[in-house]
Amino acid sequence: MRLAEMMTLRQTIGAGLLVTLTERCPLHCAHCSSASTARGRRLDAGALLRFLGTFRPELRPDVMMLTGGEPLTRPGLVVAAAEAAGARGTRTAVLSGASFARGGGRLPDSVRQVARAVDHFSLSLDAHHEREVAREDVFAALRALLRIGVATSLHLVGEGEDDPYLAQVTAQVRERFGTEVPMLVSAVRPVGRAAAWARPLPAPDASVAAGCGMAAWPVVAVDGAVTACCNQDVVDGRARPAHLVLGDLSSTAWPEVVERARRGPVLRMVRTVGPVHIAARGGEQPSCGGGGYCDTCHRLDDLTGARRWAERAGAGAAGELLQEAALRAGRGGGPATLLRRHGAGRYGELVGAVRPEGGSTHGAGKPVRTGGETTPPEDRSVHPGGESTGAGAGPVRPDGPHRGGTGEAGA
Ligand code: SF4
Ligand code: SF4
Repeated sequence: MRLAEMMTLRQTIGAGLLVTLTERCPLHCAHCSSASTARGRRLDAGALLRFLGTFRPELRPDVMMLTGGEPLTRPGLVVAAAEAAGARGTRTAVLSGASFARGGGRLPDSVRQVARAVDHFSLSLDAHHEREVAREDVFAALRALLRIGVATSLHLVGEGEDDPYLAQVTAQVRERFGTEVPMLVSAVRPVGRAAAWARPLPAPDASVAAGCGMAAWPVVAVDGAVTACCNQDVVDGRARPAHLVLGDLSSTAWPEVVERARRGPVLRMVRTVGPVHIAARGGEQPSCGGGGYCDTCHRLDDLTGARRWAERAGAGAAGELLQEAALRAGRGGGPATLLRRHGAGRYGELVGAVRPEGGSTHGAGKPVRTGGETTPPEDRSVHPGGESTGAGAGPVRPDGPHRGGTGEAGA
């Protein structure tokens, strides 16, 4: 599965699932959005595997992205999760900070096993990571992964699209790997360890409707909560407004998660016009400061007038139509439009092109084994709510350097 395909799915509700396997990481990157350490929390493995068992071949995400922290601190769980999801037709991507590549040399056996189990293997590379893992070591790991036969990509962040680092490193990756290593480029956000120094976001304009494109893929947080987006405050539990909570690994099945993701009226309007416009329509002031867009979303439950406006506007068939129109418009712009909103649109074409490969066609997922038989892909690609699997943004996130994400959570 190539990066472009994941990006294309990123604005389709329930087409993907982001899973935070751990907050642990052996590296100490200065921009880490999840502020991961060697002693961070870890997701309950049993609860995750039970949850993946609630996927059904006809109702499951097309792609599951495993992030952290460093997900490869749990290689056995990565393999088990990929197998459990793959049995229902979901493909798996993993996003790693490449700590295993330090010093070069042969890939560890555990990483080789992961590479054979997943459908996409992404590594992070940027100026901050390079202080932890040398660029040449990351390149050596990419070459080894490509020899194994797994699709790869690089997740790069810079200080904005004018950052000369981005121009230099993207040119070098192209020179070394051609189009075999697509790149997802975004900007460092003032989140986690970067909160004190990264460039703040521009203040939101309340007069303009700007729907959130990051609320289509549910996210499993490390404490087991299932949230509607990958905003780091939401994932970490510092802000969990009711409209962004979709369930919990221990008590909610995937079909319920998707149902809540599709039908919540406030969430629909966040996707359609964005939280700042909702606040303005309800006669409220958006939050001040650089993080005003997501901060306003966090406060919507307390802004009574705004919440009531969104509950009315997002309800019923009319709300569903509004949401679908906004999502269709977002998909129409393609990955480049999404990337422009996240700080590095100049590099949008580096995500590459969608192309069929190895039997995995766009939106079709893995072959599903039922009693020893393999169901043809065209019989399986029924997406939640009949929505076409078309568009979206893998690991770009609104406020953080990396999560597949997420949006991106850590690696
Ligand atoms: S506006 Fe921010 S907090 Fe709200 S759903 Fe979008 S990413 Fe999440
Ligand atoms: S940015 Fe990624 S690799 Fe770096 S410390 Fe955070 S989780 Fe680890």
